[in-house]
Amino acid sequence: MIASVYDAVVIGGGLHGLSAALHLARGGARVTLLERSWLGRHASGASAAGVRTLGRDFAEVPLALEAMTMWHEISALVGDDCGFHAHGQVRVAENRAELQVLEQRHSALRSLGYDHEEIVDARELKRLLPHVAPHCIGAAVARDNGAADPHRTLRAFRRAAEAAGVTLRENCGVEAIERAGECWRLRTACGVFEAPNLVNAAGAWAGEVAALVGDRIPLGTKASMMIVTERMNPLVKPVVSSVGRPLSLKQTDQGTLLIGGGVQGRFDLKKEEATVDFAALSKAARTVSELFPVVRDVRIVRAWAGLEAKTVDLLPVIGLSPNAPGVAHAFGFSGHGFQLVPVVGAAIAELVLHGGTNRPIAAFDARRLMAKEAAA
Ligand SMILES: Cc1cc2nc3c(=O)[nH]c(=O)nc-3n(C[C@H](O)[C@H](O)[C@H](O)COP(=O)(O)OP(=O)(O)OC[C@H]3O[C@@H](n4cnc5c(N)ncnc54)[C@H](O)[C@@H]3O)c2cc1C
Repeated sequence: MIASVYDAVVIGGGLHGLSAALHLARGGARVTLLERSWLGRHASGASAAGVRTLGRDFAEVPLALEAMTMWHEISALVGDDCGFHAHGQVRVAENRAELQVLEQRHSALRSLGYDHEEIVDARELKRLLPHVAPHCIGAAVARDNGAADPHRTLRAFRRAAEAAGVTLRENCGVEAIERAGECWRLRTACGVFEAPNLVNAAGAWAGEVAALVGDRIPLGTKASMMIVTERMNPLVKPVVSSVGRPLSLKQTDQGTLLIGGGVQGRFDLKKEEATVDFAALSKAARTVSELFPVVRDVRIVRAWAGLEAKTVDLLPVIGLSPNAPGVAHAFGFSGHGFQLVPVVGAAIAELVLHGGTNRPIAAFDARRLMAKEAAA
């Protein structure tokens, strides 16, 4: 069979694959993106789309801050605002011990020169969240954070990638990868492809794709769940999370509440399925009604779960493969990769096109996980 030849093949049509493909094509590469089902089928289409620097692991802060600047100018990148609103993010403390956790983090950030988070008292918290329960005593706030619309974001990245010349192929799962001279040869459900460069953005299945090029990178799986409620009167403008419990709450422009925060459903990676665990989900619903008693009687309209890879340290894998020439990895976002989409695509394109990047990605090298696997 004759192979289609490109400069780079991106495996995985979620937002990270689309962003890498877009930046690669803008950098002058001939790129195709191969997606096993349809674009946005997994984590990117299921996402709560929170755009947050608040509470990030310190290793992620520099990249997340750059990504935040990019989100504020996202139209310049993809020709659409992606439904991004910077109404802020608020992490609520329900007692003194939780507030201390936030204060300690805040001073550690300050000592490193970061000032993107602030601590607010009960009075300012009440101003930001008028319906919050009276026992909440303060919060950490990032005022330039917010949330986007995941489907609008997918459409915008898709259109921008196509306009930049990327060939997008859906129903095109990669089944085997082998070396062919200086190139990689990929056998897929829609033909054979060859390229000197590969980007592994295969989400929950990225460990399998990595193994096809010889990288054994241990990964876990997340099946985070979301609830959407009926419409209600204005309740919250910022995205709300909690120090002590798994929670993410936001209100859409239409008035529905989106509730998530990491409560886990069930999954079957082979069948590519994530299913809702209603008992676990009820805990997230209870948390919301305890923090915002006014929502106690609101009706749930829909619930879903989405699949993605998680690493043992909950940091992503971003970087060139230590073993496979021309292969770049971008996966393992462990439940918080949406915000990083614009900047990770740019970093991956630099790695592929120039062999390196000045962006601070050393903490995300795959070798930290491979060493643990080898030692086990
Ligand atoms: C319910 C939920 C809520 C979330 N909320 C937030 C949030 O508020 N803020 C935040 O920052 N992040 C959030 N996240 C995380 C964020 O959505 C993800 O980190 C991000 O979307 C991951 O994008 P991705 O492109 O890496 O993966 P995906 O979107 O999963 O894309 C990977 C793609 O690779 C394809 N693929 C796999 N194997 C192959 C193969 N062999 N050949 C071809 N294609 C293949 C899959 O079909 C899939 O479409 C949330 C995630 C979930 C599930």
